[in-house]
Order: sequence, then C-alpha cells, then structure tokens
Amino acid sequence: MRSTLQLFASARQNTIGFIGVGRMGGHMLNNLIIRGRERRGDGPATRYVVCDPDDRCVKSVVERHQKENPDVEIQVAKNPHDLTLESSTIISMIPKLVHVQKVYTSSDSPSVLSALKSGTLSPEEIAATICMDESTIEMEGSRAVAQQIEQTGAGMVDAPVSGGVYGAEKGTLTIMVGASSKDKFEKAKPPLELMAKRVIHCGDLGAGLAAKICNNMMLGISMLGLSEAMLLGKKLGLDQQILGDIINTSTGQSWASSTNFPVPHVTISGSSPAAHRGYADGFLSQLAHKDLVLALSAAKAVDSPLFTGELTERVYRTMMEQQGDEYAGRDFSIVYKWLDEVVQKGSAKPV
Ligand code: NAD
Repeated sequence: MRSTLQLFASARQNTIGFIGVGRMGGHMLNNLIIRGRERRGDGPATRYVVCDPDDRCVKSVVERHQKENPDVEIQVAKNPHDLTLESSTIISMIPKLVHVQKVYTSSDSPSVLSALKSGTLSPEEIAATICMDESTIEMEGSRAVAQQIEQTGAGMVDAPVSGGVYGAEKGTLTIMVGASSKDKFEKAKPPLELMAKRVIHCGDLGAGLAAKICNNMMLGISMLGLSEAMLLGKKLGLDQQILGDIINTSTGQSWASSTNFPVPHVTISGSSPAAHRGYADGFLSQLAHKDLVLALSAAKAVDSPLFTGELTERVYRTMMEQQGDEYAGRDFSIVYKWLDEVVQKGSAKPV
C-alpha cells in the first residue's frame, strides 16, 4: 500500500500551479487546461492550483472551469508558498520585477523560495520542481531570481511571450525561453507548448527576455514610424486607404501595418485592429512603454546605441504624461491619434 507521503508526492507531480490570472494569465491557464486534457488521453489527470491577490480574477477563472470543465480539479492557494508545496510545475504571469521578486524570493512573505527551503519537500520533489516566469521584466533581475531558485535544486526558466491577449486566448503565443541547460528547457517545454504556436530556446537564463525586449523595441519603433508616415501622407494629400495598401505590399510592411493598422478608417483585409474599436484593449501603451524602458536599460548595460529606441520611448512617455490614463490604458497604436489630433495642432508639449 502506498504511504500518504507517496500519494502526496504523486499528486504534486501532476499539479500545475498558476500565479497571476489577469488578462494574459487567465487565457493561458484556459489553454493549459483544455489542451492538456486533450493531450493526456487516458493518462493521469492534471490538477491545477491558482494564486492571485485579485479575488475577482481568481473567482472568474475558477467559476469558468467549474462550469466548462467540471471534471478538472482546480483549487486556490492563499500564497505562492502554499502553491509550491502542492505543485511541481509553477507558471507565473505577473506585471513587473517587484512582483516576480515578491512571488519567488521574498523573505518577508510566503514565497516559492520559502516553500522550497521549508524542509517540507523531499530533495526529489525539489529536483522535480520547474518554475517558468512568463512576465516581461528586466533580464538582470530575472536572472538573479532564477539563480536563487536554482540554488535549492529546483529549475527555473524565463519564458516571456509575444502575441498579446489575442494570442493568449487563441493559444498562438510565441514563447522565448532562457534556460541554464537544455534539460531545463526540455522540462519546461511541454506545458509551454499548450499555450503557444512556437516555443524557442534562446540560450542561457535571461536570453528569453533579451529576445522579447529586442522584438518589442522594434514593435514600438515600427508603430511610431507607420503613424508618422500615415500622417505625412495625409498632409501630402494622399488617400490613406491607398497609402495603407501600398505600404502593405511594399518595403514599409510590418506587423503594425498588416495586423494592427493605427488609422481608424483604413481597413486591411483579415485584420481587426484596435483602431477600429476606439483603440480599446490590445497591447496597452503603458505596456509598450514599459518594454521600451526595459530595452533602454538593457542597452545601457551593454553600451549599445539606441537612437530610435530612445526617441520612441520619449514619444510614448510624453504622450502618456500629457494624456493620462485615457491613452496609457489603450492600445499603443493610439500614438497615431495623438500625432494627428494633439501634436500637429500644436497643443502638445515638445517630446
Ligand atoms: P494583468 O495586470 O492583467 O494581470 C497580472 C495579474 O497578476 C493580475 O491579476 C494581478 O492581480 C496578478 N498579480 C500581481 N501581483 C501578484 C502577486 N504577488 N501574486 C500573484 N499574482 C499577482 O497583466 P497582463 O496584461 O496579464 O500582463 C502580465 C505580464 O505579461 C506583464 O509582465 C506584461 O508585460 C506581459 N505581457 C502582456 C501582454 C499584453 O498584451 N497584455 C503581452 C505580452 C506580455
């Protein structure tokens, strides 16, 4: 007969803990549950434990799965410490480095590290633990957190995502992984694949974030460049739909132009841009700006030139300082509206 300890260990081995079930995390957890069940076939059922200080987010995901997937066990943990005691796979999707530090390594509050060091888990259970932080945060800070977790014998990877809320919902994210060994990457890959169309090993710890930061700096620059080009075209007397179509079949084409065109009355076939919904939802200006700041600090650390990156960060910062939450909380393509309706009328302060 199996001892209580063995039963506890095997339950933990089949449990995924998800920390941060907000706009991205809620959808990602949903894909984990649904696709995980499809993949498992007749294999042992996976349990889920969620943790988020926002009770509304927790209530919403738990009620959804009790209704849609009543056969799937989903529980709520009071804090990351308790979640770690119950889960060998831990995934987090939280806003900033301070939150990641609090969740993983805080010594003042119940954290993942406090659970790993509590003496409650066996060395085998600790070695079987893999943590994946999918938040977009500073590389150096992320690496320091992962190193502290790995000192206990557990594994940790950085696994930031690209694809936004839409990609999180559809399970089509690109996930960029930084891992201290190929083994850690291979261990993290199966659950990550359930939320993504591509999971790529980018290199050592921090490399996933390096790739994410470079990509998102490009994204901010190309959105601003497209917005300026569209405004210039308008002032030169061009029809904006014609110019948009030309850009999308010419060398100026980008994700911003093909998928998230910033001018409200321009229609690009197959896309549903935020500009058509008053710039609601999408990739918020405050997040686009956060990623530009991450690029600036990464570039400073390695002394890499960033002329357009710096300028783009300044433009987004100025726009949000002047327009407040109304712009910060809308899709970053709203920079076109700001250039068109505020800057060119001379009512904006210089960038
Ligand atoms: P969000 O604010 O909607 O969700 C974050 C969740 O984390 C919230 O529910 C919050 O309560 C929770 N949280 C905060 N502190 C916590 C803690 N100590 N313990 C547990 N949970 C905690 O944010 P989001 O849009 O889901 O973004 C999350 C991360 O994903 C950010 O790093 C963001 O930059 C990145 N990201 C977002 C997008 C996007 O389009 N929204 C795209 C790519 C990457």
